[in-house]
Amino acid sequence: MPLHEFQCQACEHVFDELIRSEQERRAVACPSCGTKDVARQVSVFAARSEAPAAKAPAQPGGCGRCGDPAGPCGW
Ligand SMILES: [Zn+2]
Repeated sequence: MPLHEFQCQACEHVFDELIRSEQERRAVACPSCGTKDVARQVSVFAARSEAPAAKAPAQPGGCGRCGDPAGPCGW
């Protein structure tokens, strides 16, 4: 699913962005205030499909943001 939910760290605006590449992810900006200080939200659907029940969804990856220890996190 290339559609990710983000929350702006400046104005707390929540929005969805279609992310198909690293370049697009880095270019994500808040549509409300324009800042690029946004945090990706982990959807319930993604957490359920990617992590087994025994694995706490609160455990982030090495980067502390992507939530996928095995993923190529560029955060
Ligand atoms: Zn904003």
